[in-house]
Amino acid sequence: MFEMDLSFILNELGEDRAQYFNAVAPPIVQSSNFAFDKVSEMRELLLDEYKGFLYSRGNNPTVAILQQKLAALDGAEAALVFGSGAAAIFASVLSQVKQGDHIVSVRDPYSWAKRMFDVILPRFGVSTTYIDGTRIENFEKALQSNTTLIYLETPNSFTYELQDIEAVAKLAKSRGIVTIIDNSYCSPIYQQPIKMGIDLSLQSATKYIGGHSDTVAGVLTGSSALISKIFASEFMNIGSGISPFSAWLLLRGLRTLPLRLQRITESTAVLVDWLKKQPAIERVIFPLDPDFPQYELAKKQMQGACGLVTIQLKVSSLEAVERFCDSLQHFLMAVSWGGHESLAFPACASMNAADFSANEPKHRMVRLYIGLEEPGYLIKDLEQALAKL
Ligand SMILES: *Cc1c(COP(=O)(O)O)cnc(C)c1O
Repeated sequence: MFEMDLSFILNELGEDRAQYFNAVAPPIVQSSNFAFDKVSEMRELLLDEYKGFLYSRGNNPTVAILQQKLAALDGAEAALVFGSGAAAIFASVLSQVKQGDHIVSVRDPYSWAKRMFDVILPRFGVSTTYIDGTRIENFEKALQSNTTLIYLETPNSFTYELQDIEAVAKLAKSRGIVTIIDNSYCSPIYQQPIKMGIDLSLQSATKYIGGHSDTVAGVLTGSSALISKIFASEFMNIGSGISPFSAWLLLRGLRTLPLRLQRITESTAVLVDWLKKQPAIERVIFPLDPDFPQYELAKKQMQGACGLVTIQLKVSSLEAVERFCDSLQHFLMAVSWGGHESLAFPACASMNAADFSANEPKHRMVRLYIGLEEPGYLIKDLEQALAKL
């Protein structure tokens, strides 16, 4: 694939304005079906729906503009857009396994990927081995003769462990194994796994692509051969394509994606510096911090690290973690990330209170997402909440 300018992708690619009154913003083509003048034209699309516009569960003009841009951002030949990131995970994984197959996945992938591996796939005779993906040897050791898929997520979205993308892609290729990566953390602006040899790259577009916490969507990119095959089967069958209006919101989000990431990246650097100086914080986890265990790898394969940073509080009780979080006035306490608003997500919110142990560092972790507010405004909020400890 040749390299396209980012500005061309975001402002022009896929947009044929003469087709719609030279409108600058693309139309929301809110139509379920498309009519034909000739039987021969209708037949052509019924035989291969991937080719054009027949029915909006498959292709839709507004969605098509978005797909072209998202494929180009990843340096991929083709893209599919789903109604959620979870649907992109489901369709892509399902497309690469059959009864008796084996998957090697990084430990603790995104919760709904893990649920698919643990609960749904075993019902169909597909098993999964989880490994510590920070070491390439662990992948080699876990491979079996029936391994058809390696599933990656780098960095993960809470403690940010990385996998060496190029090394894993090379190993998989040498064994004829397909690779899928969840690239939600970095977005295509800061990491392009397809260019590093990964077969299928997915992300939750709910996060940075949408960018305004108002749309749930997912993206899957890869070669035309893989993507058209998934389109004709899992994508059409699961029927979880995105609505034209949601696609339009994502197109709007894309216009400002680099600008938002730039702002978020700058603010996060200021926050990381400040957080590291706070005595009530035992550890600050951020992939592009020199203290991060895999800092060198992060620098090699990521062009940036965006707005997620996790702090480990120096406290001895659940009550103290809760007091800190409950005291935040501007950070909203919520899941997800990538929008305009800063967020806090304490690890202890996803466990039974009775299971809390101060000896477990993870239990004292709070993931922060730095949004578009002024860094000083956010620091003041953290300062008053830390003072409550
Ligand atoms: C949010 C998220 C997903 C799932 O995306 P949805 O759009 O919520 O379905 C997948 N992976 C990661 C790492 C995520 O953060």
